[in-house]
Amino acid sequence: MHNDLAAATKVVALGRPPRVPDGSLNQPVTFASTYHAGGPTGYGREGNPSWQALEDILGDLEGGFAVAFSSGLAASSAAISLLREDAVIVQPISAYHGVTEQFAEREAAGRTTVQRVDITDTAAVSAAAGAADMVWLESPTNPKLDVADIATIGGAAREAGALVVVDNTFATPLLQRPFELGADIVVHSATKLLAGHSDVQCGVVVTRDATMAEKIREHRTLHGAIPGPMEVYLTVRGIRTLAVRLERAQANARELAARLRDHLAVRLVRYPGFGTMIAIELHTGPEGSDRAAESVNLWVHMTSLGGVESSLERRRRWPAESTTVDESLLRLSVGIEDVEDLWADLSKALEA
Ligand SMILES: *Cc1c(COP(=O)(O)O)cnc(C)c1O
Repeated sequence: MHNDLAAATKVVALGRPPRVPDGSLNQPVTFASTYHAGGPTGYGREGNPSWQALEDILGDLEGGFAVAFSSGLAASSAAISLLREDAVIVQPISAYHGVTEQFAEREAAGRTTVQRVDITDTAAVSAAAGAADMVWLESPTNPKLDVADIATIGGAAREAGALVVVDNTFATPLLQRPFELGADIVVHSATKLLAGHSDVQCGVVVTRDATMAEKIREHRTLHGAIPGPMEVYLTVRGIRTLAVRLERAQANARELAARLRDHLAVRLVRYPGFGTMIAIELHTGPEGSDRAAESVNLWVHMTSLGGVESSLERRRRWPAESTTVDESLLRLSVGIEDVEDLWADLSKALEA
């Protein structure tokens, strides 16, 4: 219906109430645990008009049917719930640790066999896909920023009848549209770039198939990981500026990645060439990374990512982070500040 519009226009124009005199421009926040009898919704866990705006926007941007959740992990949990008890899952060796732990929990309970692969090894992932029920891709990955060849892996998975899921949190549908590459399901932590202001947790599952979307919606109703109406409002508010935030943050990240390659303290720069995330590994090891993280003034030392403010952290400070991540790896989330101010603060902190 909106295929003639550019994504930068869609993020502004979609998900709005009908244009009627004195109608609200924005989808209002509806605080309701229950509704007057006689309608299709009835109860707050079944539906809320505030969710519709977010689901309309994300569904259109990705090209499928979107279902909003209370967090990115609630969204991934719902996608995983589609699997049979004896399912075989292919998963990246290094990916968002919460998703990895969801798989490990199923595996420990004897409800899944998980095969962990290097997602940059397309031949190995494609071979593993041949015996899988679900291939879970995160691309780029958190925090190593590995990129998967979704189209080639998707082709192998389709032949084998395996579902391909892509966690599109780092790319957003403005930089990567997994359905066009053969994916079946897309999940987002809307907490990050979509909402964009580090003030809300929200998640989304998008499917290409309407029946599958209905199953995901039923899972949300039954298990209750429903997003708060205020959270959804803030997420939609954030998405309105996604295109301009991305444009600025990407330009900053490109410049910083180039300068970091020449910084004497930096041993390795992981930057996929697009997006707003950079990971660096230092010659000075984890101690050097901790010193740098504690020395920044403008950059914020914190976890999470995708906000307007630039932030960084040493990922292995979290015991749950994969041991395949270098001890010194600093994950940088690049924001929309002036790039010279960002460089001045970061380069000085790296010298500390
Ligand atoms: C943060 C994150 C998640 C989890 O999202 P929450 O909103 O924190 O539950 C999942 N995947 C990726 C890639 C993430 O960065």
